[in-house]
Amino acid sequence: MSQYDIIIIGAGALGSATAYHAARQGLRVLLLEQFEFDHGRGSSHGASRIIRYAYNREIYVQMAALAFAGWRNFEQESGQKLMHPTGGLDFGPRGEPHFEAMLTALTAQQIPFELMSADEGMKRFPQFRFDDDFAVLYQADASVLEASKCVLTHLNIAETYGAALVQNAAVTYLNATPSSVTVVANGVTYSADRLIVTAGAWANQVLAHLNLQLPLQPVRCQENYYDFGHPKAFEVGNFPVFIAHLLSEYGYMYMPYGLPSVNGSGVKLSLHGGPPYDPETADRTPDTQLIETMLAFAARYFSKPAIRHINSRLCLYTMTPDEDFIIDRHPEFSNVIIGACCSGHAFKFSHLIGDFLTKMATDQTLDFNLDAFKLSRFDTSEYR
Ligand SMILES: Cc1cc2nc3c(=O)[nH]c(=O)nc-3n(C[C@H](O)[C@H](O)[C@H](O)COP(=O)(O)OP(=O)(O)OC[C@H]3O[C@@H](n4cnc5c(N)ncnc54)[C@H](O)[C@@H]3O)c2cc1C
Repeated sequence: MSQYDIIIIGAGALGSATAYHAARQGLRVLLLEQFEFDHGRGSSHGASRIIRYAYNREIYVQMAALAFAGWRNFEQESGQKLMHPTGGLDFGPRGEPHFEAMLTALTAQQIPFELMSADEGMKRFPQFRFDDDFAVLYQADASVLEASKCVLTHLNIAETYGAALVQNAAVTYLNATPSSVTVVANGVTYSADRLIVTAGAWANQVLAHLNLQLPLQPVRCQENYYDFGHPKAFEVGNFPVFIAHLLSEYGYMYMPYGLPSVNGSGVKLSLHGGPPYDPETADRTPDTQLIETMLAFAARYFSKPAIRHINSRLCLYTMTPDEDFIIDRHPEFSNVIIGACCSGHAFKFSHLIGDFLTKMATDQTLDFNLDAFKLSRFDTSEYR
């Protein structure tokens, strides 16, 4: 008999949420993490992540509705405050196609928003300075999730439901049959009926054991925290999350974004993207040029410049070519489920995706169509 019903590899946002959902269903769950829990070398550590409806694709707006509800329920169950409403802005030159697509998607999904001129936007949010030709979208539900706290709370509650959580346990060998999996970590062999791979940027190292490679590219990202001298005006609840649609200045792959200060962290400013990155070998020293780039952004688009750079830390995105996730079964082993390639925007959905992955692993019916995240949209023969 298998020791576990489900083994999960990787305890980032996705793996920790999956462990919670699976254990809550009464399954025998083992979660293996190669580093310590909430380490900073993957994608899920840190003070804050954005959760928002403002997407240019309806599927993500629909998922956001489920995600908001899921986090609220989880806050109630865990007794922890994880999500802080603060409102969200998207701004940029009027007519920019991604911005327009966002208005269309929000309207189609009946999500309320306000569309303002640059002047109206600056009156409402005096921390910003917008160009005359900017459109400013405000969506009131946008919130900040306390990232590390979300991961740790999922782990804590999973454990109370009986999940076995093992850190510093890198999976070094893996074998699967259609009805069982064998996994070796730290010289210990574990077996289960099902496997869920939530290994982030390392997914291909894990899946190589099962003759599968995903079309993924880890990229280097950097969170930069700044002090603007008026802590209250920039604290969560008083300052919105924002995305600047400044394609001609920064390009689509490097859109500037920002989050309010959370528990005194300072305002987070960054670019949505970065150069290719190898999490095993790369230098983790923050890029001083990027710190300056974000200071220059603030000098141009904030009403007052930052008075101080507080700190920066590296993080990584694991991108697919189309920036959509991979949530699917292994093509050969249907008892192996993959949740990966989060493309820099899955934290908000992690509680929800954990539920999807658990239901897939236990052959339950999903009431959400995940075809957009299937592996078959890529020519996987290229990646084998
Ligand atoms: C700077 C930054 C800002 C972001 N902002 C947002 C945002 O505002 N909103 C949003 O929704 N998303 C955001 N994201 C994206 C989001 O954080 C990620 O999509 C999400 O955290 C990915 O989680 P994951 O579990 O897939 O990956 P990870 O967190 O990397 O977890 C994978 C885990 O698997 C473990 N692992 C790998 N191989 C093995 C092995 N062989 N054995 C055992 N364990 C293994 C790794 O150590 C790691 O802990 C941001 C990401 C970054 C980096």
